[in-house]
Amino acid sequence: MKPTFHAATVNDPLSDPALFIRFARERRALLFDLGDISRLSAADMMKVSDVFVTHMHIDHFIGFDMLLRVLLRREAVLRVFGPLGIIDAVEGKLKGYTWNLIQQYPIRIDVYEISGSAMRRAGFYAETSFNKTDLGGAAFSGVALKEEAFTVSALELRHGIPVLAYSISEDVHININKEALESMSLPVGRWLSQFKCALRTGAPDDTVFDINGIRVRLADLRSAAVLTKGQKITYATDISPTDENIKKTTGFARGSDIFFCEAFFLHSELERALERNHLTAALAGRIAKEAGVQRLEVMHFSPKYTGLEQEIQQEAEAAFRGEI
Ligand SMILES: [Zn+2]
Ligand SMILES: [Zn+2]
Repeated sequence: MKPTFHAATVNDPLSDPALFIRFARERRALLFDLGDISRLSAADMMKVSDVFVTHMHIDHFIGFDMLLRVLLRREAVLRVFGPLGIIDAVEGKLKGYTWNLIQQYPIRIDVYEISGSAMRRAGFYAETSFNKTDLGGAAFSGVALKEEAFTVSALELRHGIPVLAYSISEDVHININKEALESMSLPVGRWLSQFKCALRTGAPDDTVFDINGIRVRLADLRSAAVLTKGQKITYATDISPTDENIKKTTGFARGSDIFFCEAFFLHSELERALERNHLTAALAGRIAKEAGVQRLEVMHFSPKYTGLEQEIQQEAEAAFRGEI
C-alpha cells in the first residue's frame, strides 16, 4: 500500500518539537506544533495549509514567526488550530511587529480555538494590518477539520493547562491497480483523482469519466481500485501522567499506524514527571501497547537526557512490547 501521508518529526527528540506530514502526490503538508522549524525548507513551509498547535509553551510555538515570515506572500489561507488562548497568542505574536507596508500582501490567517464543546474562530489578514476579525463560534464535538479524504480530530487533555492531542485519519485508502488500467488500455492521469473522489463520495455506477476522449462508466472502473482501511496518525505531547489523561489518550490513539508521543522523562523520575506534567517513556510505551498502534515514535525528551537518548528509546520499546 502506498501511504497517503508521509509523517516525520522535523528535529531530533531533544529539540523543540514539530511534526511535518506531507501528502503524497499533492503540494500540501500539515504541521503539528510549531517548535523549531528552521530545518524545514522554505519550499516545504509553503506547502503547509494547516497547523495544529498542542499548546503555546515556547518550545511548541516559537516557530510561528519563521512560518509567518515565509508565508507573507502566499495566496492560500493558513489555518491554525489550538487550545484555549490560541487566538490571543497569534494576535500577540502579530502585534510584536510593525505592519505599515503589509496591506498589499495576500496572507490570511484563520485561527480556530478549541475549548470544551466550543470552537471560536478569528481571522488575521494583511489587508487589514492583521487586526483581529471575530468570525464567531461553532459547537465542537471532536472534529477539528473534516475534508473529503480525511479528518483531523482533537482531544483536550491536561498539562497543568489545557493541551490538545491530534489524530489524522484517512476515511478509506484507495490504491490504483496499474495493471488493471493497462488491461483496459487506460492511461494514468488527472482523471484518477476524480475517480477516487467518486469512490469516496459513493457516486453512482453510471457516473461517466472522460479519459483522453474515451468515455468510461464508474461501474467498469471499479476493478481498478483496491479499497483498504485508511491511515491513522496520532500526535500527543506534554500530558500530565494522570490516569484520566492516559485513559483518554489510549482511546484516542486506538488503531493508529503511527503514534508520535512524548517521552520527556525516564520512568524512574515519575515523581518529577507528575510535577512537570509530562509523560515518561514507559507510559508512552504502555499507551501505545494498550491502543494497539502499529508503530510508536517517541519524541520530545528532556534536554537533561542528552547522550542518554538510547535509554529512553529502550524503555519505551520495552513497555510497548509489554516487557515492563
Ligand atoms: Zn514541551
Ligand atoms: Zn508544555
